[in-house]
Amino acid sequence: MKGRNLSGEAKESWRISFSHVEKKIITSHGNKKTCCEGKANKCCRKRCLMLLKSLIEGLKQRFPKELDPLRSYHRKTAFLHMLSIRFDDSMWALQQLPACFLLLLGALEAHTRAGVLPHFFAPNYNLFSGTVFPRKAMSFLLHALEGRPAPAEASRSRLTTLQLCERDI
Ligand SMILES: [Zn+2]
Repeated sequence: MKGRNLSGEAKESWRISFSHVEKKIITSHGNKKTCCEGKANKCCRKRCLMLLKSLIEGLKQRFPKELDPLRSYHRKTAFLHMLSIRFDDSMWALQQLPACFLLLLGALEAHTRAGVLPHFFAPNYNLFSGTVFPRKAMSFLLHALEGRPAPAEASRSRLTTLQLCERDI
């Protein structure tokens, strides 16, 4: 399916068909079914995803034209891959939020750098392939994630994110 030219509508309905399974994975996450059931066993998975969401939305607001191809689906997919690699609840302890978030951000950077973000359920489909995500936008995204276009601004936004993490705990 790599590089296949699906129409916008086909692509959309294809994504929607997975969205319910994805929601289920995100809601009932954890290797023990009890994760996040009570206050005592809260993990930081959802908070990590929320932090990534605010970071990406912030970038999209700042650079709407340059980051036009970037969708919420990209961060969700990177998150799903992360969940499958870091499957144990102990890896997502609430007090690990800053470290877990930086790992997730690092993973998204790595996908962007490689230009490879396999669809979680149909891994032959690359969500970052040049046909669906132009190289120019990809390289802009990489620079934005790495904080290269405006280093002072980017490091400030990273710092704010980390402060948010700490405040959350
Ligand atoms: Zn949990």
